[in-house]
Amino acid sequence: MPRPIECLIHAEALAHNLGRARAQAPNARVWAVVKANAYGHGIERAFEGLRAADGFALLDLAEAERLRALDWRGPILLLEGVFEPRDLELCSRLKLWHSVHCEEQIDWLAMHKTHEPHRVFLKLNSGMNRLGFTPAAFRAAYARLEALPQVDEIGLMTHFSDADSLRQGVDGIAHQLAAFEAVTEGLAGERTIANSAATLRHPGRTAADWVRAGIMSYGGVPDFPEHDAAYWDLKPAMTLRSKVIAVQQMQPGDTIGYGSAFTADKVTRAGIVACGYADGYPRHAPTGTPILIDGKRTRTLGRVSMDMIAADLSDLPASGFGSEVTLWGEGPHGSRLPIDEVAQSAGTIGYELMCAITPRVPVRNA
Ligand SMILES: *Cc1c(COP(=O)(O)O)cnc(C)c1O
Repeated sequence: MPRPIECLIHAEALAHNLGRARAQAPNARVWAVVKANAYGHGIERAFEGLRAADGFALLDLAEAERLRALDWRGPILLLEGVFEPRDLELCSRLKLWHSVHCEEQIDWLAMHKTHEPHRVFLKLNSGMNRLGFTPAAFRAAYARLEALPQVDEIGLMTHFSDADSLRQGVDGIAHQLAAFEAVTEGLAGERTIANSAATLRHPGRTAADWVRAGIMSYGGVPDFPEHDAAYWDLKPAMTLRSKVIAVQQMQPGDTIGYGSAFTADKVTRAGIVACGYADGYPRHAPTGTPILIDGKRTRTLGRVSMDMIAADLSDLPASGFGSEVTLWGEGPHGSRLPIDEVAQSAGTIGYELMCAITPRVPVRNA
């Protein structure tokens, strides 16, 4: 028998969450963001649930090829654009739309021999300071692209740094939105500015022509713990589950796991779960991280090791050897453990946990 851990992908949750993006931005089209192997869900599996999207946005040309291999003929957008000149050949062949964020990418386009008209999204650095042309350089870049025979249509994009929260005590998107609107005023082209956080929190101001729904498509919450998945009506698209493979009876003073990080202060029953950091469970999750045993909420005990963690069964007398464990996602009997809660306990975000599932974990459709 294989080790009992597995990762389930819920296609109907993906479809539901995509519907939530549409409901938030009813007049926009929706890019389902499937970078990083669809946030760890697998491009092919995610596609089953997200095929009603208007387009798919990602970073890797290899992932774009995988989408085309699934017979997706609609728009695909490369969010970071091309990385070297010959990538443009693949863009021509696979009809990929690509972002243009720096002068070098315009130089490459100018030298590119193509019969396919290219569709690009010119990126404004409106304050994030990762990618994009500064407001001062943006219009000149637009004019350069407009003059190129290789370029057919130019869209306009930017990306928010603080759409999930306030920034220095005020609305986190206002300064970037103002910069984008000022610089792009009067320019022709479709606009895309919203990520999940903007789509959920500021739909009216940011929907534009396309929204870019990443984490929300997978049921993760960009502004947890201010809001949770129930508040935004998002459903988990990933479940990580395993089983209890041993039970330990601890007396007061006994410790469990490496470093003796947990000491029992009373008689404690601990279930040893077949899941560890080599599966992608966060090693920094401390004692007290939520975990479901047979659908009932309890806490982890001690340090996460490579292949195992311990869970407190003291208040769960009916559970023991072989009990079903939900690390996050959907549990038995309608139970649910939001990935955001586990992430918060481990000092990270749901995004990171989804992306971190390791290759040794079998993945299947729910
Ligand atoms: C990853 C990414 C997104 C999606 O962000 P979420 O917070 O997951 O919705 C949108 N736009 C760009 C440019 C990205 O890189």
